Amino acid sequence: MSINILTVEGLSFRYNSMEILSDISITVNAGDYIGLVGPNGSGKTTLVKVILGLMKPKKGKASLFGFHSGNFKDWFRIGYLPQKISFFNPYFPATVKEIVSSGLFSKKKFPRRIGKSDETIIYEAMRLMDVLNIQNRLIGELSGGQQQRVYVARAIVNEPELLILDEPTTALDPETRDIFFNTLQELNRKKNVTIVLITHDIGSIGKYASKILYLDKKIIFYGSFEDFCLSKDMESYFGEYSQHIICHRHD
Ligand code: ADP
Repeated sequence: MSINILTVEGLSFRYNSMEILSDISITVNAGDYIGLVGPNGSGKTTLVKVILGLMKPKKGKASLFGFHSGNFKDWFRIGYLPQKISFFNPYFPATVKEIVSSGLFSKKKFPRRIGKSDETIIYEAMRLMDVLNIQNRLIGELSGGQQQRVYVARAIVNEPELLILDEPTTALDPETRDIFFNTLQELNRKKNVTIVLITHDIGSIGKYASKILYLDKKIIFYGSFEDFCLSKDMESYFGEYSQHIICHRHD
């Protein structure tokens, strides 16, 4: 039986009078790896923010682990990497290790202290994101790609059941991006972490994600990658050639 992680029902959202999301309904199950794609301004970031209770929908609702997102409290079960990192000033004099460690605070009660067992999981998150060798460097001194990996390490340090990443690869060079995608795949396959990945990299998402959510203010397609590629509706929506680009799975 599949375990329900996230449900969105009849959700609509507006900025002022402009409708940004219209009647969105989706279910995400444990172990799903969703590629959330769509043109710029199609509402991807907004959908994630509404799901996380950061903004209120106009209509409909979102639930996380069976709880209405407005009442959800176990935030440590979710790792979220926003597109714009607003929780850190990059010039703040914190080291990589301090930043990754701070990801544990959502689980801790006051006083928030890092214990011996925490050290192991902090080490593991830094190892996975390949930032061990820079753990004592100040975040402001790092390249954009290195900073990105540090923020992902922070998002996964709690070993979240659900990981939501908003365009996490924009600052990564192609080689680091591949390593990053492989790490996500490992988390998904070996640790059954459910992943929602917003990406504009529609040409390679099929290599990783098992499902596609194509958004353009409303749902254009939600289902398995295979069904997306076989869909006649999608063929007429994108044109045969574009669908071929999306569906070509590189090896
Ligand atoms: P995407 O992530 O798909 O690029 P967004 O969810 O960021 O799209 O934005 C969807 C639409 O909402 C865009 O037209 C954007 O201009 C608009 N929008 C985003 N944030 C705001 C805001 N704070 N106030 C008004 N409109 C906004």
